[in-house]
Amino acid sequence: MLAEVSNRSKSAIGYERARRVLVGGVNSPVRAFRAVGGQPVFLERAEGAYVFDVDGNRYVDLVGSWGPAIVGHAHPAVVEAVREAAGRGLSFGACCAAEAELAEIIVGALPSVELIRFVNSGTEATMSAMRLARAATGRSRVVKFLGCYHGHVDALLVAAGSGAATFGVPDSAGVPPAVAETTLLAPYNDLGAVERIMEEHGQDAAAILVEPIAGNMGFVEPSEGFLEGLRGVCDRYGSLLVFDEVMTGFRVAWGGYQNVCGVRPDLTCLGKVIGGGMPVAAYGGPRSLMEMVSPLGPTYQAGTLSGNPVGMAAGLATLRVCREAGFYASLHEKAGRLAEGLRAAAREAGVAVQTGRHGGMFGVVFSDRRPRDFADVQACDHEAFARFFREMLDRGVWLPPSGYEAMFVSAAHDDAAIGQIIEAAGESFRRMAS
Ligand SMILES: *Cc1c(COP(=O)(O)O)cnc(C)c1O
Repeated sequence: MLAEVSNRSKSAIGYERARRVLVGGVNSPVRAFRAVGGQPVFLERAEGAYVFDVDGNRYVDLVGSWGPAIVGHAHPAVVEAVREAAGRGLSFGACCAAEAELAEIIVGALPSVELIRFVNSGTEATMSAMRLARAATGRSRVVKFLGCYHGHVDALLVAAGSGAATFGVPDSAGVPPAVAETTLLAPYNDLGAVERIMEEHGQDAAAILVEPIAGNMGFVEPSEGFLEGLRGVCDRYGSLLVFDEVMTGFRVAWGGYQNVCGVRPDLTCLGKVIGGGMPVAAYGGPRSLMEMVSPLGPTYQAGTLSGNPVGMAAGLATLRVCREAGFYASLHEKAGRLAEGLRAAAREAGVAVQTGRHGGMFGVVFSDRRPRDFADVQACDHEAFARFFREMLDRGVWLPPSGYEAMFVSAAHDDAAIGQIIEAAGESFRRMAS
């Protein structure tokens, strides 16, 4: 029997205080635990594979700050690099050497990328990449996929009520319909739907934007031939293929998923891991396209804190650890052992669970078949996930507070951490089944 977490009184006090001055007490909605019930837990520190809350409870972490913590929290080399950089000044608003150093590593890791521009969030990366795609093609529409998340960019905050390909309708208040209508929607893994959209709108499609592995609707892998098919459609219609690798970049493999699947996008968006926990993101592509960005070209994009020395230092130190021989093989093995253990525990308890994984990224959904698109993910048992979340939290495991999120392992997840997760899952599944 695992030690149960019972006291979260300081979190309760922290939440009360936060709610008086912060919208919903949070600065990003999912942290409010609305999808899983219960009240938000306030964290105080993180180290290796663990996070610690303000009441002193320890949890094995499977969120990793939503991906960046790939080498483990507070890795000594990363912390040292950040301390050192901070000591020399937090931001100059001018060039620093670390920008080119980090860019060289990224460009070297991605054959499709010759030039990049750093920004401060994944949202900025996709927003800027879409602006560039529109500038390069002189077209206004963008095809995206149901259930793919690309940050809170107005035109990308759209979903449709049915699986049918359709014009986007705003998914958020405050998005003008005229903006949402520039977005065309297709179900993930449905190449036929993309082809039908492009037959009608291809001449006006600046880009097809896709998460090469979908990680914002659980974990949904591309079907055989899907990404290749998108490449072919883009080539036929003169549209740009844009991979949003904000989550998958340097997470599922060195570089990103494009190095695994072999499909070369025109533009790539990065974030999360490349900043190692600091607000760093980027977009990049071939010289011919990127030279259209200001100051070389007519597409304006700027940032006061972009490429700041502290963020660059965190990214550099993180990627240097990732670059070590065997890093991703080890991560893949850990995620595999975890997925295997969770499946076995679920089977034993008689609970229907699907797990998928690649590199240091995986997903858990309650269903008797593996989801292939957003409709499949919606049809999963999200009540069961919410229960699972609460049971696991009480057994010291920190899961993403929504069944629509991917999970992440780090290099710091050792046998003890993985063992604790599997043991907690076994107990949780048994409770859920009884
Ligand atoms: C997290 C994420 C974003 C948004 O990044 P932010 O830094 O939160 O703005 C965009 N695209 C994908 C695929 C993501 O996972």
